[in-house]
Amino acid sequence: MGLGICHTCDAIILFGGIRRDGYHYCSRRCAEEAEMGRAVEMVPEEVAEQEAMRVRGDPCPDCGRADAGVDLRASHRCTGYLLHTSVVTERRICCRFCGARHALRAIAHSLLFGWWGFPLGPILTPIVVLRDLFVMIPRVRRSPSPALVEAVRLDIAAGVLAQGQLPPVPLLPSGD
Ligand SMILES: [Zn+2]
Ligand SMILES: [Zn+2]
Repeated sequence: MGLGICHTCDAIILFGGIRRDGYHYCSRRCAEEAEMGRAVEMVPEEVAEQEAMRVRGDPCPDCGRADAGVDLRASHRCTGYLLHTSVVTERRICCRFCGARHALRAIAHSLLFGWWGFPLGPILTPIVVLRDLFVMIPRVRRSPSPALVEAVRLDIAAGVLAQGQLPPVPLLPSGD
């Protein structure tokens, strides 16, 4: 076997690697990533959208409140560690009230701990806090956000992979 190129990350595979489904991968991680990618592609956009619509109408998985616009909501925490500053984004599927609560906590965290990184802390902290304030602005949105649709799509694909099954066929009445 000669040199191989990883199908996922283009790394040169000197020896070993993993062969799966006719492709060569440098590592288990890359093979799994490719598998996940294929599984996601097998979940039609329309199916993910329908599922996202259902999730959106469901009670909040965090607080159980009904009709509060469940969506994928992000909050950002800025933490300074002297010469290093990190910004961590947390995403959860929850209602707008829980989303605002998480954003508030993240803002408090950033205001307390964000400044202490040099030189980026004092620059990033206000940006991150503004982003979280923006997250808290109530928006009227009838349909699920693209981010929620994508998260749901990943979730369906992960479920399909976990069961070691192909998706239930047919997922969609084929139009053509
Ligand atoms: Zn690779
Ligand atoms: Zn909630």
